Amino acid sequence: MNVLIQPPVSPDSIRKGRSGSTRWHFLFMVLVGLFGHVRADEELVLPLRLHLTQGATLVVRGLNLEVWVTPEEVKSIVLPEVNRIWKQANIRFEIEKIAEEPIPDLPNRARILQQIADFKRADVDQAHGSPFELTQSLFNPLEVHPAAINVYFFPYVGETLQGVAALGGNRVLLGVWTNKFSHGQDPPKKTLLTEPEPLNVGSLSRTLSHELGHGLTLTHPRKADLPKGRLMGGGKQGYLLTPEEIAKARESAKKHLEAFARPHAKSNRQPKGDAPTNHEG
Ligand SMILES: [Zn+2]
Repeated sequence: MNVLIQPPVSPDSIRKGRSGSTRWHFLFMVLVGLFGHVRADEELVLPLRLHLTQGATLVVRGLNLEVWVTPEEVKSIVLPEVNRIWKQANIRFEIEKIAEEPIPDLPNRARILQQIADFKRADVDQAHGSPFELTQSLFNPLEVHPAAINVYFFPYVGETLQGVAALGGNRVLLGVWTNKFSHGQDPPKKTLLTEPEPLNVGSLSRTLSHELGHGLTLTHPRKADLPKGRLMGGGKQGYLLTPEEIAKARESAKKHLEAFARPHAKSNRQPKGDAPTNHEG
């Protein structure tokens, strides 16, 4: 946020001569200090490329799951809620591009979609691959922005999973159907777009905000960690970011912005050492 603060100059202060101007000089230096602080905490605006995948039908418990969320819903409901949540860090996300994108007709497409439909959270750490890697092989590499954060809306990303991201990476995967609310017992339902506190089942906006946190290098707190009700999880779900998380996310956000500003950034690869990590929303 750029706030310009100038000491007011009145005819009265001019008449006061040197002592008055010394006072104003002191006040001005105090304001410079404040102004400098505001500058250091300026709003960071991060570009998002939003991909609403089309034409991928996942069959889960007899239901045909497809992406139902519209670009208009993302623009007018989801993104404003994400920005409400991230306002505490003075980070704002804006749309670089939003598009409905068909899944290319790859020869192994049906098999990959079936693998994702069958994926269970318990499989994540057991060398079964991850829905993140499986879906990335489906997406058109020409549509991936090398430096903006790419967010993929997919029908479903596995039993009780709602979103997946790589720490510090620039790709986020979201399922718009989920059965996390029933711990995987019931067939998937459409996610809520938003949910006020106290959280009950989670929402697409919160999952996106949470996964963006991973993209900005934030990890999960431990269950016993205080405070409770945090965006990154822990013992109770919520929207809160701690001062430490805010500082860490802002540092990462600046790196994302530097990468975005770099001309001719052509690499579509994730940063080195960026193992995809799977996360609940
Ligand atoms: Zn997570």
